[in-house]
Amino acid sequence: MSASHSADSRVSVRVRFAPSPTGYFHVGSARTALFNWLVARQSGGTFVLRIEDTDAERNREEWVDGILSAMHWLGMDPDEGPYRQSARTARYHEAVEALWAGGFLYACGCTHDEVTARNTAAGIQTPGYDGHCRSLGLPRGEGRALRFATPDGGTTVVRDVIRGDVAFPCAAMDDFVAVKATGAPLFVLANVVDDIDMAITHVIRGEDLLPTTPKGILLWEALGSCGWTTDGTAGPAGAPTPALPVFAHLPMLVNEARKKLSKRRDPVAVESYRDQGYLPAAFVNYLGLLGWSPPDAGVEVFTAEQMTAWFRLEDVNHSPAFFDVAKMTHLNGAYVRDLPTEAFIEACRPWLVGDAAPWPAEAFDEATFAAVAPLVQERVAVLGEVPSMVDFLFLAEPPVDEEAWAKAVAGDEGARDILVAATDAYEALRAGWTADALHAATLAVGEGVGRKLGKAQAPIRVAVTGRRVGPPLFESLEVLGPERTLARLGAALARLDGADRA
Ligand code: GLU
Ligand code: ZN
Repeated sequence: MSASHSADSRVSVRVRFAPSPTGYFHVGSARTALFNWLVARQSGGTFVLRIEDTDAERNREEWVDGILSAMHWLGMDPDEGPYRQSARTARYHEAVEALWAGGFLYACGCTHDEVTARNTAAGIQTPGYDGHCRSLGLPRGEGRALRFATPDGGTTVVRDVIRGDVAFPCAAMDDFVAVKATGAPLFVLANVVDDIDMAITHVIRGEDLLPTTPKGILLWEALGSCGWTTDGTAGPAGAPTPALPVFAHLPMLVNEARKKLSKRRDPVAVESYRDQGYLPAAFVNYLGLLGWSPPDAGVEVFTAEQMTAWFRLEDVNHSPAFFDVAKMTHLNGAYVRDLPTEAFIEACRPWLVGDAAPWPAEAFDEATFAAVAPLVQERVAVLGEVPSMVDFLFLAEPPVDEEAWAKAVAGDEGARDILVAATDAYEALRAGWTADALHAATLAVGEGVGRKLGKAQAPIRVAVTGRRVGPPLFESLEVLGPERTLARLGAALARLDGADRA
């Protein structure tokens, strides 16, 4: 990227991804990470990971692991970090001291109820702090919070690459709490101190944080005017507070109802997409379309390298982006089909061997899978669909899908005749067991009962594979072999006859 948006073009670009580890890794976070990563890659800059784990009650170590492993899976390992806010508390307290000494903070012991009561008495509907303690000169401590005295007039302007200048009148800004009554610094303070110390040049994050940004700017400028210097986290210690970073607030993600994606309602966990068998390259490609598209309209399939070459922060759209799982799945299917067969087989491995596989480990056979792999590859959108396509090859008995059985065998009056005729025809093929021969024989079976091939196949497929969908039938039977195919046809007939008698 051109250096035109860096706060100081002589300074190398440093971006950060700053997730709070409070749950599964959200697709919106992954998109934020990607856009930061792209800016770093295209500018030869540095992609910093900062774990904002100051909320001890909501943070869990496993969520941190989830973030790290998801970023690794997506090919977006950080260049620096992870830094952890929980390890930097002393630094935030130093900032509080500086701001206090500079006269930017004052102590406030008002309770929420007291503030509300005063507002109500004054006929003020909107909740907010009224500045009651600002001029009282209360001492710190004794359960008092520290508030930041916002300017009475003027505006704070967020220069946003995506949204343009967003002006916040200072008069409408509360004297916000910077340090809780417990002494814990608030998110916005830690966030700004870190961005300064880590020499961040571009703050690229979700638009949900836009309302917080003017507070961050006020804190940033206040620290600068206190003579606040960096601590050496990035670069030398003692450098003066840098100029404000470039801001870019990314559009929120919405579902098909155009509602903000919700952790409870929508499938937002990146981990779950990995587990379902989305390919990282397809996932990254799709994330790239959430709020951005290549300059060449209509191009929707591209590599991370192409995205790195084409991406421009100023081209990001500010309207909400629809996270369309169906579209992503479709895209993933295209990526799956594009893989060289060898790579497809390799990518399937986690679903074929190990605890997740639906068959005993010793039942899996590499060569058997390789024989059907090209056929399976054409028919799955995500790798998690692969086991159910091939389980008939590795399970001793075909899986029992009762619905398929009821529909295609038990519920089909012609099924019994077809299975009997197929058994006879296939017996005769034992010595010449090929997909072509099986095809021809089944065609003849169908003609014998007045059915087209597709309709004649259905009961055979369910009898032998247990399922109504799968790779092409005759290739499947060829790989399964005469022994097992005929045994399963026999078992299906026995089940049908048993059901008749019952
Ligand atoms: N930790 C914040 C969050 O996860 C993001 C802060 C930032 O990017 O500035 O919402
Ligand atoms: Zn007060």
